[in-house]
Amino acid sequence: MAEPTDKINLSNPTEVARETLRRLAMRRIAPTPDNYQLLYEEIVGVPAAPANKASAETALAGLVSDLKEHHPALSAQITSLDKAIGKSDWRQCGWQLTEIAVQLKPQPVRPSMVDSVERTQDESLAQLRELLAKTLEFGVVSQLAHNPALAEKTQQLAVAVREASSDANLRNIATDLKSLWVGIELQATDAHNQQETLKRILLLLVENIGELLDDDTWLRGQLDMVQQIIAGPMKIRSLQEAEKRLKEVIFKQGMVKHGLREATATLKATMTTFVSRMSEAVAANDEYQGKIASHIERIRNTEDVVELNHILEGLLEETRAAQSESLRAHKQLIQERDAALQAEGRIKELETELEQMSTLVREDPLTHSLNRRGLDDEFAREASRADRYSAPFCLAVLDIDNFKVLNDKRGHQTGDEALIHLVKIAKEELRLTDHIARLGGEEFLIIMPNTPLDEAAKIITRLQRSLTKKYFLDNNEKVLITFSAGVAARAAGEMQEAAIARADAAMYEAKQTGKNRVCIAPAAPTEAG
Ligand code: GH3
Ligand code: MG
Ligand code: MG
Repeated sequence: MAEPTDKINLSNPTEVARETLRRLAMRRIAPTPDNYQLLYEEIVGVPAAPANKASAETALAGLVSDLKEHHPALSAQITSLDKAIGKSDWRQCGWQLTEIAVQLKPQPVRPSMVDSVERTQDESLAQLRELLAKTLEFGVVSQLAHNPALAEKTQQLAVAVREASSDANLRNIATDLKSLWVGIELQATDAHNQQETLKRILLLLVENIGELLDDDTWLRGQLDMVQQIIAGPMKIRSLQEAEKRLKEVIFKQGMVKHGLREATATLKATMTTFVSRMSEAVAANDEYQGKIASHIERIRNTEDVVELNHILEGLLEETRAAQSESLRAHKQLIQERDAALQAEGRIKELETELEQMSTLVREDPLTHSLNRRGLDDEFAREASRADRYSAPFCLAVLDIDNFKVLNDKRGHQTGDEALIHLVKIAKEELRLTDHIARLGGEEFLIIMPNTPLDEAAKIITRLQRSLTKKYFLDNNEKVLITFSAGVAARAAGEMQEAAIARADAAMYEAKQTGKNRVCIAPAAPTEAG
């Protein structure tokens, strides 16, 4: 390709040199001295002769390398030729070429058989070397990935095998190869030992996992299988199988463990609630409360299911004990309550009975007026009250007139009814604070508290009158009942008998003076009088 040179001053070497470099760059030509020279000459337009000379030198160099490769026996002469070319000593060059030519001359006349055998041996050797190099590169290096130092050494040996050009070289390579094999063998033993150790650790691990498992037969089966596989010769397929099964075991165990953790948490929560509720329910017993508190503490501090089970058993045992204890206490309480109720009933019964008895004890059963005892009680009470308040207190003795006649004429029964009638009318006429008592037979005593003597006499007289109005009926026949009475005012501190005796004396006076009348007893004699 012609390029314009008219703008370049060819007599200026600097300009030519700059243009040469530009063209080298433009044409992307390697900047070797030869190429530089070629382009320089192209620009200044020098004749082709020197180029021819360079071509001759290049041709000679090619010849030398060719000779070197195919005729190692002539290496001395070839080296001398090379040196001569380097010095451009063309005379020496010629000598050496002649020498080589003489040496080579007989070859064409050799029997072709010999020549071909030699060539075949050379080719076989080359093939063998290539084979060895490739074996080292692809067969050995790839197996030494875990040992970079040995891999590097092997790679270098492969290169050396390819480049070996003499027996000496090959002998060196042989020595290096031997040391390489020894190295590889040593590290193989090492790897084997490592493998055995790993295998032992793995077996131990699998055995321990087995002990950690409960009664899960599937997991156990998987682990037994893994153990068998590992115990046998180490083959990649069996190892892969073992790995697969172990992964399954780990996955399943993870699931189980997760489930177990959840179950444990639930169990703990349930137990705590249960224990708290129980503690509320059985709040009475201090000793039991203490036990419950310690159980709650134990539950809080454990994650172990077996431990939780123990606690639960203890709890149930104590609950049973507490339950039977409380049941027993409950039964006893019911029994006691029943007994108390019965006793209460009996007490009421007795009280009523007692009341009735005491009433009976105080009353005359026929007329229901006070009997002697009742009289004594009431008299004592009223006497003490009268003395305390200095109140007037009177009494009257009554005796039915001619009662014997009534009995004889109408019968004892009618006599009884007449007695009842008298008491009934007396109770109607007297005040609530007054009392009537039967002294015996047809004789009665009336007590009139807080009543002066004249009034007392009036009261008794009024009773006489009312008996004539509210007459006693015997078989629809009106029967008049009359009585004679003696009224006395009790003196302060006067004894019962003395007062009654005075009233009785007054009554006797009433009988003596005509019956059906009221006589007043003279005042009680004073202690002084
Ligand atoms: P006076 O007027 O002097 O008192 O004569 P009287 O008949 O009432 O007295 P007397 O002492 O002679 O008789 C009393 C009678 O009262 C004798 C007795 O049979 C009778 N009598 C006493 N107690 C009872 C009783 O509880 N019931 C009956 N039906 N009669 C009685
Ligand atoms: Mg009498
Ligand atoms: Mg009488």
